Amino acid sequence: MKCINCGAELENQKCPYCGCVADKPEQNAPVNITFNLTRETNPPAQKKSYRTRKTSSKNKGVAIFLTCLSFIGLGGLNRFYVGKTVSGIIYLLTFGLCWIGTIVDLIMLKNGTFTDSDGKPLLK
Ligand SMILES: [Zn+2]
Repeated sequence: MKCINCGAELENQKCPYCGCVADKPEQNAPVNITFNLTRETNPPAQKKSYRTRKTSSKNKGVAIFLTCLSFIGLGGLNRFYVGKTVSGIIYLLTFGLCWIGTIVDLIMLKNGTFTDSDGKPLLK
């Protein structure tokens, strides 16, 4: 054991030259105990599933198919499909507003502005 200040041999844990007291030997150092601090926290991925959906549960491809049925006389089925029942009935009785409404719906479906009854865009 040597003095940490001057490097001289210690006598009874004390330096005979500078008088400084040696630190405790390293084997008496406290054991580094690691505590398990991991709490039961929910991972962020689990919270995501509780988020409200931003898109409709309705499928865009199905809506386009139903819109095309208007050309064989079944107008407004796409509007029934997304929950727009009132305009669906009007479309059904008027052949999709003489196919003008059908064409408009097709364009809106194509560029993604066609929404369901909750105003949410359809699934691609
Ligand atoms: Zn010393």
